[in-house]
Amino acid sequence: MTSSFPDPHNRPDALGEGTTPPVCSAKGCREPAIWALRWNNPRLHSAGRRKTWVACDAHRAQLAEFLDLRGFLRATEPLAGQPGQ
Ligand SMILES: [Zn+2]
Repeated sequence: MTSSFPDPHNRPDALGEGTTPPVCSAKGCREPAIWALRWNNPRLHSAGRRKTWVACDAHRAQLAEFLDLRGFLRATEPLAGQPGQ
């Protein structure tokens, strides 16, 4: 099967492209993401840096908990810029 679209899961960061809807960052999930989890690993990133995971509604809590347990989670925000819905 061929596709003219790149697989979003192969991208280092689903955000920042603006051409295709972001897909949930959870492994194997193909749902469109509606949440943005902003996180920072103080050992790797400077204090003001924010990494972003995106999540569908079903995986938001799971991904947030993963980050929160490690003390990385900074904010969970609705993903802006979704057309319609
Ligand atoms: Zn998902």
